[in-house]
Amino acid sequence: MLAERLPGILPPLREDEQLESAAVHSVAGARDRLEQVWRGERPFVAPHHSVTRAALTGGGSGRIRPGAVSIAHNGVLFIDEAPEVAAGVLELLRTPMETGRIDVARHHGTVRFPARFQLVLASNPCPCGAAEPVDCRCRGGVRDRYLHRLSGPLLDRVDLSVRTRTDPTSGLVPADDLVSTSGESSAEVRDRVIEARGRSVHRWKRWASNASVPGPFLRREYPADDAGMALLQEKLRVGTVSHRGVDRTLRVAWTMADLSGSAQPGTSQVMDALELYTSAVDRDGV
Ligand SMILES: [Zn+2]
Repeated sequence: MLAERLPGILPPLREDEQLESAAVHSVAGARDRLEQVWRGERPFVAPHHSVTRAALTGGGSGRIRPGAVSIAHNGVLFIDEAPEVAAGVLELLRTPMETGRIDVARHHGTVRFPARFQLVLASNPCPCGAAEPVDCRCRGGVRDRYLHRLSGPLLDRVDLSVRTRTDPTSGLVPADDLVSTSGESSAEVRDRVIEARGRSVHRWKRWASNASVPGPFLRREYPADDAGMALLQEKLRVGTVSHRGVDRTLRVAWTMADLSGSAQPGTSQVMDALELYTSAVDRDGV
């Protein structure tokens, strides 16, 4: 439910984004989605965990069709039960997550589609989906191995990870965890997001969001304050984050600064971003 609500708090598509997305949906023959795009709604694409390589990245016999990563361009790509996806298929997301595009190679040449999406992965802690470890019916090391199916290099590219609690009696996520205490509607949250995006666009000029800014430029020209950068350096030294993790944490810290109206991320934003980057899943696969 949280993933489905995400497009509703994102800014409406800009005109250039509408044109890009419309081109993809035209090639894909997705008429409904085309209408959504002209209304400015960001795509939400949720392929089943049995998704094939071709369905995810594009391909097919005859005319090459864009895959889910391109249908989700400028929107949200949601994969539920991510560890159930066939080995190697999720890894195909790594390149578009870095470059914002995907190359589909065929015997008569290569087709390039845009593929810049917000990825949401969801997973139970184990295959049986028990809310509490004590209720787990999985044998031996199955539970321990389950989340390891999500590779370190893939998780290294995920900015935020959140562990949700489950109510032991109902098996559902408690409403308090899903609804902010202020009772804000999606529209109100969206206004804050639009304001924060506005700050980032004004700062970067060349890039549409914090997520698009290259790491080296960010570290050199727009670091966090001295204490924040010292904290990141220390986490890098002890191996809590990778070099890629430093860049990703810094981008999230900038987003937090933009949301709070601060001129530069400080220690508290860096700490919050680090917490979200490292909390739910141990990236060493332990
Ligand atoms: Zn289990």
